[in-house]
Amino acid sequence: MLIIRNGFLIDPGSEVSGVKDIVIDNGKITTIADPGSDHVADLLNDGRNEVIDASGLIVTAGLVDAHVHFRDPGATYKEDIYTGAEAAKRGGFTTVVMMGNTNPHMDNVDTLKYVLDKGKETGINVYTCGNVTKDMEGKELTDMSKLIEAGAVLFTDDGKPITDAKLMERACEKACKYDKVISLHEEDPAYISDNGINAGVVAKKLGIKGSPRDAEIVMVKRDIEIAERTGAKITVQHISAAESVELIREAKKRGVLVYAEATPHHFTLTEEAVLEHGTLAKMNPPLRLESDRQAIIQGLKDGTIETIATDHAPHSKEEKERQITAAPSGITGLETSLSLGIREIVDKGYMSLLGLLKKMTINPAKIYGLDAGEVKEGGRGDLVIFSKDEMWTFDKSVSKATNTPFLGETLPGKIYYTICGGEIVYKA
Ligand SMILES: [Zn+2]
Repeated sequence: MLIIRNGFLIDPGSEVSGVKDIVIDNGKITTIADPGSDHVADLLNDGRNEVIDASGLIVTAGLVDAHVHFRDPGATYKEDIYTGAEAAKRGGFTTVVMMGNTNPHMDNVDTLKYVLDKGKETGINVYTCGNVTKDMEGKELTDMSKLIEAGAVLFTDDGKPITDAKLMERACEKACKYDKVISLHEEDPAYISDNGINAGVVAKKLGIKGSPRDAEIVMVKRDIEIAERTGAKITVQHISAAESVELIREAKKRGVLVYAEATPHHFTLTEEAVLEHGTLAKMNPPLRLESDRQAIIQGLKDGTIETIATDHAPHSKEEKERQITAAPSGITGLETSLSLGIREIVDKGYMSLLGLLKKMTINPAKIYGLDAGEVKEGGRGDLVIFSKDEMWTFDKSVSKATNTPFLGETLPGKIYYTICGGEIVYKA
């Protein structure tokens, strides 16, 4: 048994908070009690139980990230499922959903089985998507029902948009039938000369054309229409432009089942970061303007954007040392997500800590139907214990990769313990 004493519990599920003792037995939470209860006193007297003193710390549900790239199979020199999971644990995550731009892709049962089996060895809950199209080529739909049977929790061709509108419509009809969400990387390649950098003043300074906001906006517009017509549930991943936020806000008012996801980098940085960090600030879709960053924060605040996802995208040092147009897009994010949320969203007064935590726990869990994201008796013993205000320095990563502009920064939100299924999987 594991007993967590005197922590300040924030349950994103019930929105109840207060100082509590929590007992986990056999992977499940068996007791949530006010401090000083007889039951917990008895358990404490039994010297065999493991005890964590969480006085002065916050205890909440293990974090959920519905958008990670663990590069396994296919590019394990960047990351593998084990090292990706280590980064997740260090960041307080106990549940992740892998994206499917692996090699082979997540378009077949064997690859899903490989990923899920390996995920079971990590100590956290590793889920996977299934691809929408075979080989992510945007030409032929995968067998969704088979992939669901194999464990796919959502569908996506993340990394690529589904450019064929008719195919997208058919994908939506199928996803409807199986009640699964299609998660969309919204960037029309026809608009993009150089991906990963916003088409604006910074791109101009670098002598490149970059990726214009319209590349995202046209796809968001189209897919909202298709979702509206078909009744499908879609998620706009890693939203980057103010207009996209507004389109989703309006669509929600009409009852369209469109969800949205923001990354920590899109609510923290702007295109200016490229001048300071070079390829470490190159990602798809790119960092844009301060007005976009503010629109994303407003979207988080008013509920237009339900979830925060890292889009943890490891690359090797060699790859990121290439020229700006040749280096791959993407940055890692699992280890700094909670800290950046605290610094940029909570400490700047945009949202409460509970509000932030909901976007990193119960909201993605509900949208994708995952057993995660809340702290309740009988529920999973998945928790993170952290100090909101204590500073820590991100001096080295436990991921295989170090492609993040935040390396070296001192941030609030020091994580003390990550607990999954009642086991301590990370300890500061
Ligand atoms: Zn993407």
